[in-house]
Amino acid sequence: MGNRQSTIVNRQFLARVTHSPDETILLGRELAAHLQPPCVVLLEGDLGAGKTTLVKGIVAGLGAAGENEVTSPSFTLVHEYGSEGRVYHADLYRIEGARDLATLGLEEFAAATVLVEWGEKLGDDAPLPCVRIRLKHLGHDERRIVAERMEAR
Ligand code: ADP
Ligand code: MG
Repeated sequence: MGNRQSTIVNRQFLARVTHSPDETILLGRELAAHLQPPCVVLLEGDLGAGKTTLVKGIVAGLGAAGENEVTSPSFTLVHEYGSEGRVYHADLYRIEGARDLATLGLEEFAAATVLVEWGEKLGDDAPLPCVRIRLKHLGHDERRIVAERMEAR
């Protein structure tokens, strides 16, 4: 359970259907322009929804690494891109009872962009400022991608 006293307001700022992995990568590049560190980005959606694909575009858009350098951290748990830990890419899929980013040993993320696949596992304890991105497999190569900003009020 979270222990926040304030209300969280969610503001949707982007909603799109993509029709190919490349289109999702492009959308990730576009999304990067909306991310101002420090920022935690929760990526939510089933296996194959396109979370890692979207992260390729976000990381490239942030200028931290080339899109082909981005791979799924589902075994390694955390990847780090760019110099001085500017961008972290984590995957909570295999983590039982993930409660916070400390579970990942992330200590130096105060000034970073932290991209978290299976971010829904953090529940109410996700740190702010925060962006939530939901991805849904619509069939074939179609994916619905919705991004919202979560702000404390
Ligand atoms: P996740 O990280 O959510 O498990 P991935 O990004 O690893 O998902 O995998 C998505 C899979 O779906 C890839 O094999 C990709 O090629 C395929 N795919 C097909 N259409 C799309 C699309 N529009 N956006 C993203 N991935 C797509
Ligand atoms: Mg993935």
